[in-house]
Amino acid sequence: AVNPAPGVDVAVVGGGQAGLATGYYLRRAGMSFVILDDQDAPGGAWRHTWSSLRLFSPAEYSSLPGRLMPRSPGGNPDADHVIRYLADYEERYSLPVERPVRVDHVVRAPEGFRLATDQGEWRARVVVNATGTWCQPFWPTMPGQRSFRGDQLHSASYRGPDRFENRAVLVVGGANSGAQIAADLAGVADVTWCLRGKPRYLPDDVDGRELFRVASQRVRAMAAGEPDPGGVADLGDIVAVPPVRAARDAGRLTPNPMFERFTGDGVAWPDGSTRRIDAVIWCTGFRPALRHLRELDLHEPDGSVGLDGTASTRIPGLHFVGYGDWTGPGSATLIGVGSTAKATVAGITECRHLTSTATL
Ligand code: FAD
Repeated sequence: AVNPAPGVDVAVVGGGQAGLATGYYLRRAGMSFVILDDQDAPGGAWRHTWSSLRLFSPAEYSSLPGRLMPRSPGGNPDADHVIRYLADYEERYSLPVERPVRVDHVVRAPEGFRLATDQGEWRARVVVNATGTWCQPFWPTMPGQRSFRGDQLHSASYRGPDRFENRAVLVVGGANSGAQIAADLAGVADVTWCLRGKPRYLPDDVDGRELFRVASQRVRAMAAGEPDPGGVADLGDIVAVPPVRAARDAGRLTPNPMFERFTGDGVAWPDGSTRRIDAVIWCTGFRPALRHLRELDLHEPDGSVGLDGTASTRIPGLHFVGYGDWTGPGSATLIGVGSTAKATVAGITECRHLTSTATL
């Protein structure tokens, strides 16, 4: 007889910071759970950023619940420091992470859900999605894009300035990635930075601490039923981390209006002006990685995924953690994800799915 697929109270899909923070609270709640992650090693999306990327907050403002991130020598932590911290966190709390395991389909079942993965099936009463956005880069389409003969890549695949030395590079996007990559290239390439509107820098003295304060104040106000004081997006889009500030103050971070179309060897603006471009880096953001949920009737008629807190309003027992404002102010940051992970696990412990009679 074939062994039945292993069954747990909660299956967490994704083993980045959001999945680990959720695991921390599931462990404290004494629930049986597994964290399924498709990477070969700890760190989530931090394993795929460019080497000069630094957090916009100091270490002590970038900690997951229960464990302070060690200080990093010489300013804000870089991606390697975060990866070491996340690997240590998994070990410290002996979190049951199965990797590399890719969850391909999640369907409903009498006991809750069945998860088909590339390493076999899992059964769970509750599923928490913590799959992040890194593996779902958003590429806009522009007229003439197909006839453009230069290179194109998304910020998700940017690994540093070397391959762009002395080339004409177009950086598209006015948020953190756009500003940080344009600054990273400013010294070695001929950079054209294009964005919609003007760059909205946060005040120079504002870093992740202020972002966290504003996000926490918003969570408190909304929990108390007070009017929404506005989120960090109202403050601006770009944290002026040191490399961005240096390039901006040296006049090497000049914003250009969005171009209108591609030509064979560059781009053209509405006024007819053109520029020859060798490569385009799309710093145009990401979307939540939810492909594995496509069999579930997840979306509201307007295409959105309705949530009550972090719980799906259409699929009982399905939760989302770590995707940014949509799942809780600050939830896409290291320091902010803890509170939504805690609220999610509190919600799961109260919900009826765990007491359902169907055997696991
Ligand atoms: P991820 O880190 O992406 O983890 C999700 C995991 O799930 C990944 O390992 C992924 O491979 C896996 N996965 C996805 N789909 C599946 C599947 N079907 N099956 C199995 N596994 C799957 N935050 C800060 O706090 N401070 C900063 O300074 C900061 N700077 C940032 C700079 C940039 C350029 C970017 C892009 C983000 C930054 N963030 C910052 C935001 C945030 O911290 C990161 O995006 C972080 O990686 C989000 O963590 P996560 O766990 O939600 O997602």
